[in-house]
Amino acid sequence: MWTRISVVAALLPVAAFAQLPSYEPKYGNSGIDLGAMDTNVSPCSNFYQYACGTWRVKNPIPPDRARWSRFDELSEKNLELERDILEKAAQPSPTRSALDQKIGDFYAACINEPAIERLGIAPIEPQLDQIDGLRSKEQLAAVLAKLGGAGINGIFRFFADADSMDASRNIANIDQGGISLPDRDYYMKTDPASVDIRAKYEQHVALVFGLLARARNAQWDSNARAAAVLRFETALAQNSMDRVARRNPDARNHPMPVKDLPDLIPDFQWSVFFTAEAAPAFQKMNVGNPEFFRKLGDLLKQTSLDDLKSYLTWRALLDSARAMPKAFVDENFEFFGRTLTGAKEIQPRWKRCVEEADSALGEALGQKYVELAFSGPAKARALELVHEIESSMEQDIKTAPWMTEATKRQALTKLAAVSNKIGYPDKWRDYSSLAIRPDDFFGDELRASAFEVRRDLNKIGKPVDKSEWFMTPSTVNAYYSPPENNINFPAGILQLPFYNPTADDAVNYGAIGVVVGHELTHGFDDQGRRFDGAGNLRDWWTPEDAANFTQRADCIVNEYSGFSPVDGVKLNGRLTLGENAADNGGIQLAYAALMHDLANRVLPKTADGFTQEQLFFLGYAQVWCQNTTDAQARRLAITNPHSPGEFRVNGVVQNMPQFQEAFSCKLGDAMVAPKACRVW
Ligand SMILES: [Zn+2]
Repeated sequence: MWTRISVVAALLPVAAFAQLPSYEPKYGNSGIDLGAMDTNVSPCSNFYQYACGTWRVKNPIPPDRARWSRFDELSEKNLELERDILEKAAQPSPTRSALDQKIGDFYAACINEPAIERLGIAPIEPQLDQIDGLRSKEQLAAVLAKLGGAGINGIFRFFADADSMDASRNIANIDQGGISLPDRDYYMKTDPASVDIRAKYEQHVALVFGLLARARNAQWDSNARAAAVLRFETALAQNSMDRVARRNPDARNHPMPVKDLPDLIPDFQWSVFFTAEAAPAFQKMNVGNPEFFRKLGDLLKQTSLDDLKSYLTWRALLDSARAMPKAFVDENFEFFGRTLTGAKEIQPRWKRCVEEADSALGEALGQKYVELAFSGPAKARALELVHEIESSMEQDIKTAPWMTEATKRQALTKLAAVSNKIGYPDKWRDYSSLAIRPDDFFGDELRASAFEVRRDLNKIGKPVDKSEWFMTPSTVNAYYSPPENNINFPAGILQLPFYNPTADDAVNYGAIGVVVGHELTHGFDDQGRRFDGAGNLRDWWTPEDAANFTQRADCIVNEYSGFSPVDGVKLNGRLTLGENAADNGGIQLAYAALMHDLANRVLPKTADGFTQEQLFFLGYAQVWCQNTTDAQARRLAITNPHSPGEFRVNGVVQNMPQFQEAFSCKLGDAMVAPKACRVW
């Protein structure tokens, strides 16, 4: 059982933030935000509106955001907490710890805009000189490696990752990359909105080249350079696999000996590239998308050296944009913020600096964060909940009516091998070799990027370290890792409103309980099911069970393909399949865990007028209250495998007889699917 602390309503702190909605939740005794609801609507006709309707009216999107949600509310609180930590750490003192020096000086450098203006673009000159110095395409490999070592990605990606066939070892990987818009579709779609965004992108690139020309006292045709960038990126996009195709792990798994790389692309000097990147020596690697590299050879032949230089210059400027002088930062926001996401204002400097510190030194800042936000019994309590959800999954697999015993045994073996990581790493990352200076933000960013590249590439040929985290402790999110077969819950999400120590258990099972169930179900979604308990890409399904899975999954694909987040746009049911399956399965697991828990206890029948079952569903739905700009909704429909909040709620409950019983919904109501989908 997941211990419940109190049923008495507590006065919950509501911080006031400049620019943010001045919304005050009205938590009832149960922990549900009664003030968020719209009770003029029947829960059976639109449960999302019923649970979140008033919240949505009272929470307009802040001008520096493209979306405002319960997740963002919590992220903002975490940002505030981290700002306090960073400001204190930034005070120079002879007794300051090495950790405080790193995070404090990083933040101080970032916040110091006059120093950044004084330096101008000087810090990026060495990279730009390297690009300008390209005399022939034979030198491209060496220049790409040098830029890559500084964290500037051009043309393709090179990184370490677990070997799909032996997930205990890391191998080298190369994969498609090199585009700057959020998805390959942006370069190809011919509808008016997409054509308009492309035109604005080209204009933006030209403006940035104009800024660079002024800063370097150079003269060139910025429009021509922007056109060359768009041409080259469009070709890279056309040669790339789309997001749906990449959901199939087989499509990304092409192990080959390094010596065979010239078969794909004869003229590229791979040995020069790998040596200049200072990667450990290796013989075997994985090529994520061989077709991309096969076509790259011709593309490089057809592209002039000048156009390649324009492209690389643009990529260097883009990857450095956040550390550049204000003119560059503002122009970057105009396109990537305002045009692409619909945000009206750039985030205040301090927020950007906290985010930069979290991204560059996340496991240093994170140590301080967890001391403040995740101490005491929080970790043990979360682990208890995870174990309960895991037992739910065990029962769920054992009783699945559509699976044969042989596949069930394999699934149970995989489930037993799942490991749980809660809150923060057992062993913190060592940043001692990374030099941080209080007056050199650009340099700090560059050194931090180089540190990360080096840390990553050094994994090649080494055993996979499953204790490593791929999110920082303050992150309001969670993940499942297929090759490591583990579920990971950063301290940042184990907070109100996901976990509320004063709320009824039913509310917490609906909120954080479903998050846990969601991550666990990822191990068995359309991608996760392709990996075994050891994390290897191995087919452990009988053909009959695999066919049953696909049929059940197709029901979810069809359901979500019918949802429209914004006029004229439909969700992509195949792109969002894994997340939707995880939502639909995860809520079943958390609900079963709550029922198991309630069976052993005597509780008041109702709280705030709701039954325990109703509280569970309200707890779930209220995590997903959100508002999104139209521009951002369009972008997310193309790029985001997660469905928007409205459909994460209504899409899920309409498949659940338990929901319909809880709220006495009838066939014919919108929240009762005539043909309910269920995988897990
Ligand atoms: Zn997920």
